[in-house]
Amino acid sequence: MSKAGFIEIQDKEKYLKDNYPFTDVPQLSAKKRCIHCDKVIKVGDYKVYRDNHGMEFIVCPNSPECDGTIIDWM
Ligand SMILES: [Zn+2]
Repeated sequence: MSKAGFIEIQDKEKYLKDNYPFTDVPQLSAKKRCIHCDKVIKVGDYKVYRDNHGMEFIVCPNSPECDGTIIDWM
């Protein structure tokens, strides 16, 4: 069983394109507001969390303090 935790992404632009849940993939330099921590974040600062089932989630740069994910960014 793999260990849960944050994983390193080599090509953040490609990873975002491959995993973004919507069609309009933002630029890495784009600024969004995370509605969970109410902070403005840079898209390219995203973190990726992998759970112990191997599922990967794009999460807020302020994770783990913030539990927001990419769908919480306006
Ligand atoms: Zn957040």
